[in-house]
Amino acid sequence: MTTKPSTVLATERLREELAYLKLPSAAWSHPLQGTGGLDVAIIGAGMFGIAAAVALVLKGVKNIRLFDRSEQGRSGPWTTYARMHTLRSPKDLPGLSLGIRALTFRAWYEAVYSVEAWEALYKIPNGVWQDYLDWIAHAFELPIEHQTRIREFSVSPQGVTLLRDDDASLTARRLVIATGRSGAGGVSVPSFIDPALFPARAAHTTHAIDFSALAGRHIAVLGAGSSAWDNAATALEQGAARVTMYARRSYLPQINKARGYIYPGFISGWHALPAADQWAVATYLDDTPPPPPHETVLRTLAAGEGRFELRLNSRIESVYQEGGQVRVKLADRTDEADFLIVGTGFQVDLARDPLFARVADRVALWRDRFEPAGEAKYRHLGLYPWLGSGFELQEIGKADGASELNRVHVLNHAASLSFGSIASDIPAISAAAERLAQQIVSQLFCESFSAHQQQLVDWELEWELEKTPYFHRPQKG
Ligand SMILES: Cc1cc2nc3c(=O)[nH]c(=O)nc-3n(C[C@H](O)[C@H](O)[C@H](O)COP(=O)(O)OP(=O)(O)OC[C@H]3O[C@@H](n4cnc5c(N)ncnc54)[C@H](O)[C@@H]3O)c2cc1C
Repeated sequence: MTTKPSTVLATERLREELAYLKLPSAAWSHPLQGTGGLDVAIIGAGMFGIAAAVALVLKGVKNIRLFDRSEQGRSGPWTTYARMHTLRSPKDLPGLSLGIRALTFRAWYEAVYSVEAWEALYKIPNGVWQDYLDWIAHAFELPIEHQTRIREFSVSPQGVTLLRDDDASLTARRLVIATGRSGAGGVSVPSFIDPALFPARAAHTTHAIDFSALAGRHIAVLGAGSSAWDNAATALEQGAARVTMYARRSYLPQINKARGYIYPGFISGWHALPAADQWAVATYLDDTPPPPPHETVLRTLAAGEGRFELRLNSRIESVYQEGGQVRVKLADRTDEADFLIVGTGFQVDLARDPLFARVADRVALWRDRFEPAGEAKYRHLGLYPWLGSGFELQEIGKADGASELNRVHVLNHAASLSFGSIASDIPAISAAAERLAQQIVSQLFCESFSAHQQQLVDWELEWELEKTPYFHRPQKG
């Protein structure tokens, strides 16, 4: 068994820096009259759930709890279905820093492994990134309930009620949905694939796949995005006889445009743009997907050595099972394989997500608020929720900000029409968490303002002139 390197130094440095900054703030929130429960419940303790929780705790919002269906150390994709060896991002992203040096990935890595190790590091191994996230959760003693799935939630004027898988329910004033890429509609599987292929003859890239059982087999991979390539490489490394990858395009995307719009203008300004401009950028990005990292392509080719083929210009009509084989029917021929891996990503469609079952028909989507000129090809983007300035859901037929649905904040990829990718990927994670926390603080404060006003009147902790001859303590009442 390998023991993990110590994080004691990283934690000491964090404590010292937080002391300089006088953080976290003391808890200050007042419960709403007549309600108990949490101030904020967070579904998902992956990267964005943790970021949201830390940003709230730093601002003194401490009556919070996070719920994650996975076990500790297995939240998110990094040590589960992410089959690359290292993150796709460069190592020098600040990570979940929230403006605090000791919280950056680099500071943590240098404290845990050494400055020399940081300099020698090329990209961040998946497991190391997971350790970093786990360390943050531990350092802030975040109240995470692992192996707890939230089945659904409902909203009322007073708050949000969450129903857990074990039928227990709990209430919160605000709910943050940080359920990840698949957390707003699930995975995307093209309708031309026969569902009966799953699980014996097909899997999505997010599924647990026993690659050792596929040794000696011919694997068809559908799609040519990063995860499709990661899965092709893994299959080849674990002894697949052959991998055939099918891509619709005539050539692979060449430039990762996502790297070209991560700067403060886009990060802070996207939400303030007119809807037509937001739509224009979103549709441009939809047409310009990122290429797979070159390391992943080279890894696949190295593992493949004549056993890998990329078939561009592939228009698949159907994929079905026949004679114990997977048949991939194209316009001009039908190919055969032993197993299919579907690398077609995720979709946003709240109506398909059981978590949203009680509210989905009320949630305002982009298609309810914005009418692009006859662009049927982007119909899927119309399904993204139309969000307020703190990632809040809005309600069909009600003015923005005038619904009990505003108590629910969506901090995952579904926010990307309203905010760009700040709640999707690593680069702007701090900005997203900071925006969310600021809005929640202001909402918690405003809705219990009378208690804060009375507290101000009652506040007499410091009598400044007590030690002077002019001290006077007025009589009460
Ligand atoms: C394979 C892969 C590789 C990626 N690599 C990069 C990269 O290199 N760089 C980059 O910037 N971005 C990358 N991303 C994109 C993004 O950074 C990750 O998806 C990241 O995990 C997003 O964090 P998250 O908190 O939104 O979601 P997640 O990390 O997926 O966390 C969501 C959590 O919610 C939990 N959950 C979901 N539903 C429920 C429920 N109903 N009840 C309780 N818990 C629930 C899940 O168990 C999960 O732990 C990658 C994405 C994938 C899929």
